[in-house]
Amino acid sequence: MIRRSLPWLLLVLVLVALGLRNRNNDAPAYDPRLVEREFFALGTLVSISVYLQDASQAAAAEAAINEAQLWLERFERRHRPWGEGELADLNRALLRGEQAVIPGELRPLFERSVELSKASGGLFEPRIGALVKLWGFDEETHLRSTPPPADDIVGLMQKLRAAPATLSACNPHPACYGAAAGVQWDFGAIAKGLAAQELVGQLAAAGFANTIVNAGGNLVFSGQRGERSWRIGIRHPRAPGARTLATFAPREPPQAALAVVTSGDYERYFEHEGRRYHHILDPRTGAPARGLISATVFAHDGALADAAATALIVAGPAHWRDTARRMGVDQALVVDESGAVQVTPALAARAGDADAELRFAEGLRWSVAP
Ligand code: AMP
Ligand code: MG
Repeated sequence: MIRRSLPWLLLVLVLVALGLRNRNNDAPAYDPRLVEREFFALGTLVSISVYLQDASQAAAAEAAINEAQLWLERFERRHRPWGEGELADLNRALLRGEQAVIPGELRPLFERSVELSKASGGLFEPRIGALVKLWGFDEETHLRSTPPPADDIVGLMQKLRAAPATLSACNPHPACYGAAAGVQWDFGAIAKGLAAQELVGQLAAAGFANTIVNAGGNLVFSGQRGERSWRIGIRHPRAPGARTLATFAPREPPQAALAVVTSGDYERYFEHEGRRYHHILDPRTGAPARGLISATVFAHDGALADAAATALIVAGPAHWRDTARRMGVDQALVVDESGAVQVTPALAARAGDADAELRFAEGLRWSVAP
């Protein structure tokens, strides 16, 4: 009996082994030239991938990533609006009704944010921190379960409207803000894109020209992954599991680092009476923006891409195209509440089927916005 079943047993073993091999072929093979690290920073998961010219550079790449991680920790400490750090101190001075001096290290982000806010027609609004806090979206773990009282929203909106939109000179300091009680600065909608761009630059300066930095959907990449391009997944805003909305794989490595930044209503939200209340607030109403559930911006500037992705969501289905134009963004896509995708003409030129640079998930409805 045993002798007769032996050939069958052997055949089964061979088939199982072949099956395993096939499965392994599908999985990304171990590549000694790819160095990757993931860690938490800026309230999100950050991943850094470096593709080496030669596997012998691995130790140098690890050291460069260590530096990048340290830089990000310092950046985070300076720019978080609450708790400890320079921006939190500045926000506390504003709360006390004082004029706040902008420390030198914070000036670049303040100045860039003021400029981008203006370009967005005020839809990207970095002075929105008090409203963010009122809605409870400053909290990472304990969200509210009901919207805040309407009177509180109106009160903060009035203060925001009355407050200056720009920085002021204040001898001997080059820049101050306020006094403007009620204004709390929050760079949550721009800092991750700016930081990702900065890190790709730092890694390039350390000799690593083929990198991706992804800070919770704020992605900047340069070069390519060995002989082929990097493949970037754009998250589906209602993805069960890891479903992607689209994948992007440029035919040529970009001339300069390219940012692909996605903002969505799924990052932080609570539900109340069947409605989703999410963390991107419309500065005109003081409430979560309605109409678009995700926006992705492609640009050679991480800060712009990040600020613009947020602004497009606030602009909504009727105005996102104009807002993109005003901000100088020509490659973007948005998803509306029905799940329909709209793409700018410049990005649509890169989109299509199997050979296209931007490939949408099967069965997805997408159209080109005029
Ligand atoms: P993002 O994920 O880049 O869209 O940024 C969202 C974060 O930016 C929120 O968690 C808030 O901290 C802040 N924020 C919310 N609404 C706005 C807005 N209209 N303009 C600028 N920042 C905002
Ligand atoms: Mg943003």
